[in-house]
Amino acid sequence: ERIPHDAPVLIIGLGRFGAATAGQLDRLDREVLAVDENAGLVQKWSERVTHTVQADARSIDALRQIGAQDFSVAVVAVGSSVEASVLITANLVDLKIPQIWAKAISQSHGKILARIGANHVIYPEAEAGERVAHLVSGRMIDFIEFDDDFAIVKMYPPKPIRGVSLAESSVRRKYGITVVGVKSPGKEFTYATPDSVISNHDLIIVSGNSVDIEKFASLQA
Ligand code: ADP
Repeated sequence: ERIPHDAPVLIIGLGRFGAATAGQLDRLDREVLAVDENAGLVQKWSERVTHTVQADARSIDALRQIGAQDFSVAVVAVGSSVEASVLITANLVDLKIPQIWAKAISQSHGKILARIGANHVIYPEAEAGERVAHLVSGRMIDFIEFDDDFAIVKMYPPKPIRGVSLAESSVRRKYGITVVGVKSPGKEFTYATPDSVISNHDLIIVSGNSVDIEKFASLQA
């Protein structure tokens, strides 16, 4: 089912994760209904988020009363209590909300959420940890990894491609990756061409299969 990109979002839980999600959606001008059982948190966020309401989302009747069934997107941002997270997700599935995102604190928690019917399971801590590992271990400065093992990485260029043009180093043929953009110090990123010569202090944007990119990023500095 296709969900309009401006559909209002139901967020359950205003802990650190839920509040960050709600706050960012609000900045993106998305309508949000944020629910928490804690009155203090509801009060705290009521000025920053379009709609906030106090309710125990473990109760399907409470969810019906706040109109949860009318939402096409929901985020379950309750993690520390696995039991609550599972009950809430099951309620949202029973209310036939088509897009349910749920945060998991462990692989088994995530497996249960997926089995109940969450469409997207998020592992914020595991994902942040993997990110940090990538960033501290090499020359990657930032990266986005997509579901299908494809990634885009901002990094310092490894030695084999420095001082020559991209055509000469034949990065695509040798390493299976594509240099998309190049940034020289003090300048803006430009699209890379076969004639682009990469120098020592440049930054590059590379795209390709995650494994190929990792190999490329661990080439001689
Ligand atoms: P974080 O790690 O992102 O801070 P937590 O799991 O600690 O996430 O926070 C979850 C939030 O969800 C808390 O603010 C808590 O009050 C709220 N919450 C927990 N159970 C329920 C529930 N049954 N209904 C509504 N909100 C809940």
